[in-house]
Amino acid sequence: MVGDTIAAVATPPGEGGIGIVRVSGPGARDVIKAVFFPRYGRGVDEWASHTLHLGTIIHPDDGREIDEALVAWMVGPRTFTTEDVAEFHCHGGAVPVRETLTAVLRAGARLAEPGEFSRRAFLGGRLDLAQAEAIIEVIRAKTRDGLGAALSQLEGQLSRRIDQVRADILALLAHLEAMIDFPEEDLPDMGSERLRVTVVHIGKQIGDLVERSRTGRVLREGWRTVIAGRPNVGKSSLMNALLDEQRAIVTEIPGTTRDAIEEYIDLGGIPLRIVDTAGIRETEDIVERIGVEKTREYLEKADLVLVVLDGSDGLNQEDEALLRSLVDRPAVVLVNKSDLAIRRLDDVRLRSLVGKMPILSVSAKEGWGLQELSDLIRSMVYGQDGSTVAGREGEGPVTRDGGRSALVTQARHREALERADFHLRQALEAVDVGASPDFLTIDLKAAWEALGEITGDTVGEDILDKIFSSFCIGK
Ligand code: GDP
Ligand code: ZN
Repeated sequence: MVGDTIAAVATPPGEGGIGIVRVSGPGARDVIKAVFFPRYGRGVDEWASHTLHLGTIIHPDDGREIDEALVAWMVGPRTFTTEDVAEFHCHGGAVPVRETLTAVLRAGARLAEPGEFSRRAFLGGRLDLAQAEAIIEVIRAKTRDGLGAALSQLEGQLSRRIDQVRADILALLAHLEAMIDFPEEDLPDMGSERLRVTVVHIGKQIGDLVERSRTGRVLREGWRTVIAGRPNVGKSSLMNALLDEQRAIVTEIPGTTRDAIEEYIDLGGIPLRIVDTAGIRETEDIVERIGVEKTREYLEKADLVLVVLDGSDGLNQEDEALLRSLVDRPAVVLVNKSDLAIRRLDDVRLRSLVGKMPILSVSAKEGWGLQELSDLIRSMVYGQDGSTVAGREGEGPVTRDGGRSALVTQARHREALERADFHLRQALEAVDVGASPDFLTIDLKAAWEALGEITGDTVGEDILDKIFSSFCIGK
């Protein structure tokens, strides 16, 4: 597909070392000819592909000098968009970048729409849709693990898995359709038990991906975490200790409305979205600050509750009421002030109250037990033995080294997977009641299509528009 020639600024606004204007399309060569005066004579027609050239950017109308720059020249199809690409690396200030873009547009390119470079990469077959979306995920990653998940998607881990399940579905469909079309032929009939096994197998693979989407969401959006406990047990101190522990404060996700009392921290690669840290740090308690009702609301919405108790004090009614309200919730009990010699907390009583909830001894003051807490949260995200969502069949899990596994991070993918999962359940039901193959094929086809939406095989223009328009200009 040959489109027109598009151009956009690829670097963020503001001052920087360099600013890049990206050009893609059949006219990229002519744009260079019109706006670039090479230092060492030879023109673009003599340049090898994938080389850098120093020179001056000039305005095509009057030859006025704009900036000294490097031009990267890449001939399609071995480029991001699969088209000819020129990148002008000028000085990273508002004026040189803008003037360079103006010159390029004057030379015949048009301003790219948001995500148009990525869209061309998709249309050119360079990336599938899941991979194109992964570019945004890489850029917006909030922690190392989040980056690992996005990179693996960009490299096609998720796409390969999806393709594999779709191939299995297609093989089964072909078999079923042969059975429907030629019932009296001597086809090797697929016994109902074998049919069941095949459907179950496909369903399991999809179910596994749905499961992985839980971890993916955590990595993308952060675990909503609430620190709860009565006054003076050490909630604020714990918050501060966690803030000291984290590697870097992560910026907010663009596009989400940020609650005034939430903050992201990066604990061992897992992003936590902790409620009311700003308030807590100013010595206020979440309960004092936002009231009991609101606290209850946060507790209900939380992915994780850190219940803080004072180990140097006995359990009182307030503690017990809180613990009871959290039974069956993802919560960790932190027995704080373990640095103190006095310990009045009744462990047997505590255990009987919290059931299977993990209990950790910590000292917010000394920073004791925080590593254990971080490891525990990690195992809660990735599954107890690390196998729930971590990679199998030779793929490494997403580990501290940023390993690779097919995690599902996007809501769009999750939604498509859930639909596929639903249809596989229906198909299994059809098998179990001995329904005719026609019923089965309807659901299998629907599942196949739902999965194809993830890789972009079966999506319409409208969805493509929606996805790519959420990209920035220049991507
Ligand atoms: P909050 O009301 O639950 O937020 O509790 P704070 O964090 O404000 O702490 C209440 C008091 O307990 C303060 O005097 C802290 O210094 C003290 N404290 C908090 N954590 C620890 C701890 O681990 N060890 C000791 N010895 N004191 C602590
Ligand atoms: Zn406090």
